[in-house]
Amino acid sequence: MTEPTTEPTTELTAPSFVKPLFLGELHESIVLPYPRMAPDEHARIDTLTTQLREWAAANYDERDVEQQRWIPDATVRALGEMGMLGLYVEQQYGGLGLSQTGYCRMFEVLSGIDATLGVVLGVHQSIGYKGIHLFGSDEQKQRFLPDLASGRRLAGFALTEPHAGSDAYHLETTCELQPDGSYVLNGEKRYIGNGSRADVLTTFARTPSGGHVALLLESDTDGFEVGDRYDTMGLRANDLRRLRFRDVRVPKENVLGSEGQGFAIAMQILNNGRMSLGSGSVAAARSLTDMAIAHVTQREQFGRPLAEFELVQDKIGWMVAYTYGLEAMSYLTTGLVDRGLQDYSLESAIVKVAGTDFIWQAANRAFQLAGGKAYLRSEPYEKILRDIRIFPIFEGANDVLRSYIALNGIEPVAAQLSGLSHLGLRDPITAVGVVADYVGAMVRRKVQPPKLRGTQERFASHAEVVSDQVEQLRAVTERLLRRHGEAITARQAHHKRLAAAVTDIYAQIATLARVSDVLERPEQGMIGDEPFIAETFCLRAADRVRRQFDQIEHNDDARTFDIARAAYGRARYHHSV
Ligand SMILES: Cc1cc2nc3c(=O)[nH]c(=O)nc-3n(C[C@H](O)[C@H](O)[C@H](O)COP(=O)(O)OP(=O)(O)OC[C@H]3O[C@@H](n4cnc5c(N)ncnc54)[C@H](O)[C@@H]3O)c2cc1C
Repeated sequence: MTEPTTEPTTELTAPSFVKPLFLGELHESIVLPYPRMAPDEHARIDTLTTQLREWAAANYDERDVEQQRWIPDATVRALGEMGMLGLYVEQQYGGLGLSQTGYCRMFEVLSGIDATLGVVLGVHQSIGYKGIHLFGSDEQKQRFLPDLASGRRLAGFALTEPHAGSDAYHLETTCELQPDGSYVLNGEKRYIGNGSRADVLTTFARTPSGGHVALLLESDTDGFEVGDRYDTMGLRANDLRRLRFRDVRVPKENVLGSEGQGFAIAMQILNNGRMSLGSGSVAAARSLTDMAIAHVTQREQFGRPLAEFELVQDKIGWMVAYTYGLEAMSYLTTGLVDRGLQDYSLESAIVKVAGTDFIWQAANRAFQLAGGKAYLRSEPYEKILRDIRIFPIFEGANDVLRSYIALNGIEPVAAQLSGLSHLGLRDPITAVGVVADYVGAMVRRKVQPPKLRGTQERFASHAEVVSDQVEQLRAVTERLLRRHGEAITARQAHHKRLAAAVTDIYAQIATLARVSDVLERPEQGMIGDEPFIAETFCLRAADRVRRQFDQIEHNDDARTFDIARAAYGRARYHHSV
């Protein structure tokens, strides 16, 4: 999928890293040593980053872009010439051929210049034409990729519909196979980025028999109509549109994959998009931390810099430690993709949920610390808040992904337990994503004990804690399954807890792997308190895991649900004071 790095090849002892954690297995050889970018790619990224930042400082005005509500065509062309529209595309098709890690690093820089720029270019390459890269035939790659990678043409991704948002599986756009192998498309999509600008849209429809089909729709096709533009709160330069298909004929050579594969293709594309959205969010949180530090060290109140107050240190310390842990997790995940991990759907969903929830909290804290000036439009904070608010909603609403993460983890445990393997857990999961068989692949795989042994000696106690938590995750999952049986599919409060627990377990492992690697390679130039920050992140993450496990037994879920249902009955809040 991506061009190889020079990292030594690790033998992957399982097709996924996170899924086996639910089974109580910790495949440490997959994550240790912490993945490193190949030195030549590292050097390339450094050069590209400098070039891009210098170009942006002289040529890109995010406020002007927001006002114009589009990135000027000349800017898109210039970015295309720098390779920014074809970051991961193989060089034979005119792209830069970066690895997943390299792609996410560059995506960070683009989003750091302007979140809208990140989203417009993300719609184009993270999801717009990713399907061609992943599933296209050689002929399709040859025909589409050179123009898309250079920015001569733009791409979009059209999945969402008026009645199918989070529940994309039940999309209503139809396509009918014609005798010549083409499909005739009818229906409507909404909230589609790059809507009137995209020349090629990867879109999805169902045949009368219900099979999903992925199609490459070219915008000059008869019957394709672009609706009015949505007036959005943030990302105002993203050209968000409603699209209509009236008897649009998509030729046979523009069918991606085959009939029946459409939904799996859509989900696989989103698996990739989620990774860059999550890692980009963590990078944005890092910039917000820098802004907050600059402000609190300069601004004085009560005769002292704000930085000296404990409640300010509480916020900054939290932001630094949390950024460190989530950065470790994001780049462990991209590194695993580069190592060839087969199924990274859970890892990427985790990175998306954790990163996009974090950026919102981090932005809120940075905003608070900046005080009244943060509220001014001349300051960057209000635009950041407006732009990022959609992150936890698009590319999979975070609550939906929480269920997806938990059910995907529960499924192999059920499959392994006698008496529970018959449970119909797959149906609800396949409606929100794809499920790869894990237990079925067991014959080829060596079961691993829940032990993290390969981190630096200094972190042994943390490694022991997280190893125990992997064991507990298995026990807790099994207990929930035995208690609820098939009804576990509807127990979303528990899904949330399992998803939060496995996220913090994965984040601890990533952090310990990252900091061990830093200690082992002094030439990397460790920054003084890195092990201390890593340990602090792990202590807090372990504590959160304990609380999640505890709440599985002790919670007031029933009360909360009763209150909600009673309020639905009264159709409003209804209590006078
Ligand atoms: C700026 C922007 C850009 C976008 N770009 C694109 C694009 O380029 N291409 C594209 O195809 N789409 C795009 N979208 C659409 C986006 O992906 C959807 O808005 C998103 O998937 C949510 O769908 P929905 O809006 O219909 O919300 P709904 O599905 O109605 O969900 C609303 C909320 O309900 C809750 N919820 C829903 N289902 C569940 C559940 N099972 N369990 C618990 N809670 C649940 C969640 O809190 C969710 O946030 C974009 C949207 C915006 C606003």
